[in-house]
Amino acid sequence: MSSLDPGTLVEGCVIVTGGGSGIGRAIAERLARCGAPVAVMDVLSDGGKETVDVIARAGGRAIFLEGDVSRWADVDATVGAAVQQLGPLGTMVNAAGILDGYATADEMSPAVWERVIAIDLSGTFYGAKRALGEMLPRGRGRIINIASVAGLVGDGGGAAYVSAKHGVVGLTKRMATTYAPLGITVNAICPGPIATGLRPNSARLLGSDAPPMRGIGGDDAAIRAIVPAGRRGTVEEVAAAAQFLASEAAGYVTGTTMVVDGGWVAR
Ligand code: NAD
Repeated sequence: MSSLDPGTLVEGCVIVTGGGSGIGRAIAERLARCGAPVAVMDVLSDGGKETVDVIARAGGRAIFLEGDVSRWADVDATVGAAVQQLGPLGTMVNAAGILDGYATADEMSPAVWERVIAIDLSGTFYGAKRALGEMLPRGRGRIINIASVAGLVGDGGGAAYVSAKHGVVGLTKRMATTYAPLGITVNAICPGPIATGLRPNSARLLGSDAPPMRGIGGDDAAIRAIVPAGRRGTVEEVAAAAQFLASEAAGYVTGTTMVVDGGWVAR
């Protein structure tokens, strides 16, 4: 196999935040199938342990580390433990996130605003920053941030979610320009509507603060009207994009916002 085959991942372990469900789980499973040892971080331990079991049953190597990405101490400890148990960090995938139920600015409570920004934006920054601590001394590494079409247009979420995802896109570009000369690529994937547990998990994690989980993700007719492909995407379709960005073949790809959205933002 050529080293530029998309099946050849960069050397080192993989950490996936939010790896206990949906897109993060599919990325963890796919990169494990490509041969990487994978650390799954999630605040919900049931899902995280299940991801690790699925990978182990398929013959891969994975560990679960419970933690909250909105807490620097948790991210710091998780990355440290992953490297200690699995070896040098090759790829950091920041996939943990919650939705704000498409709440508009006037409806949005300060508590929901702060929680969504803390997880979706600060959590991504903490994951990326801590990964740099491992990658900069080695002069290599891949950082993949799961943003959203909500990071590119004023749709796809409410005021907090769209703000956080635009922030993730900005962070990705800023980091890409800083670290390209130092051997580290930083990219974002911007999925459109993907069938996952995002709505129930967000409601569970926001607890009594949770707004009603509105938005097109739960509405088949709205998806057909907005998405040219006429359907939701699958978690595997997002994981395939992540595999490419984590591969040796993507060494010259940095600062991109890779849309996986059935044509939504191209309209
Ligand atoms: P999901 O709920 O299935 O998975 C998200 C995971 O993140 C869950 O396991 C959850 O427990 C975990 N998580 C949430 N808060 C956390 C925290 N503070 N610390 C650690 N883990 C935490 O949802 P998903 O759709 O797979 O979402 C994954 C990412 O994809 C999110 O960033 C989301 O914003 C983004 N995204 C999703 C869609 C979609 O349509 N599903 C579209 C665009 C972007």
